[in-house]
Amino acid sequence: LPQLPRPRSTRTFVVANQKGGVGKTTTTVNLAAALALGGLRVLVVDLDPQGNASTALGVDHHAGVAGTYEVLLEGDRVEEHVVASPEAPNLHVLPATIDLAGAEIELVSVVARETRLKKALAAYRETHPLDYVLLDCPPSLGLLTLNALVAADEILIPIQCEYYALEGVSQLMRTIDMVKGQLNDDLELSTIVLTMFDGRTRLASQVADEVRGHFRTQTLPTVIPRSVRIAEAPSYGQTVLSYQPTSVGAIAYLNAARDIARRGVEGGH
Ligand code: ADP
Ligand code: MG
Repeated sequence: LPQLPRPRSTRTFVVANQKGGVGKTTTTVNLAAALALGGLRVLVVDLDPQGNASTALGVDHHAGVAGTYEVLLEGDRVEEHVVASPEAPNLHVLPATIDLAGAEIELVSVVARETRLKKALAAYRETHPLDYVLLDCPPSLGLLTLNALVAADEILIPIQCEYYALEGVSQLMRTIDMVKGQLNDDLELSTIVLTMFDGRTRLASQVADEVRGHFRTQTLPTVIPRSVRIAEAPSYGQTVLSYQPTSVGAIAYLNAARDIARRGVEGGH
């Protein structure tokens, strides 16, 4: 695979959309694998108690496995619990287990509760240089997502090409503005990925046009098609890139990763 350009400094993306099932996790894991296969050093932080990103990257996350919970709540170091993904060289995962479900409540009483992840990642990067960090969020705007919004410098919003696609995005934009003003000045909505695009329906094209109208510069030229291969891959503990490397879904994620990597370098990241 062609090598991708290395950013000048680490780019940390929060993959957010408080709607569930829009393709956050699928986009996180496949972009992460595509960037790593392009020769870049990538870390995925699984912030969803469901642990779907851990599953798709072939990383064990049964109850009792230490990961994101211990880093956020117990002050453990990221390097103690990071696991190499079999999906690509230089791709690591901080896994999430069901324990993380309690973190949303437990974090409320913790000191500096919004900045725990940011500090942990900064300490990790001192000894483990990274090109990309992707933070996979749960479908809510609670303290886990807030930690990710504070730790990141770029926001990636996956938008599903169907009715009400933009519903919820305005609420997310208000949250982003609040975080930007109070907790993270650097945060920027840099990337929108159109997912589950069904080229046979006029609605999908209309939605894609509407999103491009609202977010002209942010929306990636590459669109991710609806594809059975993409949906099947996690049940084999794989990304679509290793499960069906020549499928349209795999190629779309490789192209989307290339779009992101090139833009980053041109855009001065
Ligand atoms: P989220 O993390 O936002 O909840 P997921 O990434 O888990 O969303 O995706 C929701 C469901 O849609 C999953 O079953 C996933 O396999 C499926 N899916 C995601 N992207 C695609 C796609 N491009 N084509 C077909 N199915 C997809
Ligand atoms: Mg998810």
